[in-house]
Amino acid sequence: MTRLPAARREQILIWLQDEPMLTIDDMALRLGVSHMTIHRDLDALAQSGQVVKTHGGAARIHQNEPTRGTAACQVCQGAVQERSAFVIHTRRGAVIELCCAHCGLLALAGTADVASALARDFIYDRMVNCWQAHYVLDSDVVRCCVPSVLCFASESDALRFQRGFGGVVMTCAEAQHHLSRHHEPHHH
Ligand SMILES: [Zn+2]
Ligand SMILES: [Zn+2]
Repeated sequence: MTRLPAARREQILIWLQDEPMLTIDDMALRLGVSHMTIHRDLDALAQSGQVVKTHGGAARIHQNEPTRGTAACQVCQGAVQERSAFVIHTRRGAVIELCCAHCGLLALAGTADVASALARDFIYDRMVNCWQAHYVLDSDVVRCCVPSVLCFASESDALRFQRGFGGVVMTCAEAQHHLSRHHEPHHH
């Protein structure tokens, strides 16, 4: 039982860090308070922009949801997330952002004056040189375009991931070759 509104609201935010959404029932049960109380807590949190209040509960506000509004992947037109999955810089200073490594590798093959290209490592969540990375294609983990292409800075991480989730481990050149032969992006 959590009596102080501030403490309850803090607890709801902590839960929403681990769970994408909570129902009013869940929260009322866990906190030992009435549905009315939860409604008031959620109204307060929603008003301050900390959660999205839905019909039956609350959902967390995604930090990585697209906030630039118009940013669209140049290959599939899907939304490019705030934390880019793949970025190409050209020698003329253009910055091309792609929704995922799938579109990134396709765009790379079609860009003439590439100065650098970075892909986001699936495990460590940081940008790595895309030519030195390894890729797992067509695993069970589909986050964006199909076939799913996930980037790993280290080959051993890619192999470890593949043992758990399937797919095929490829180098950058192999992945590019494979994708350009089956070019038909589907954005999820
Ligand atoms: Zn795309
Ligand atoms: Zn994609």
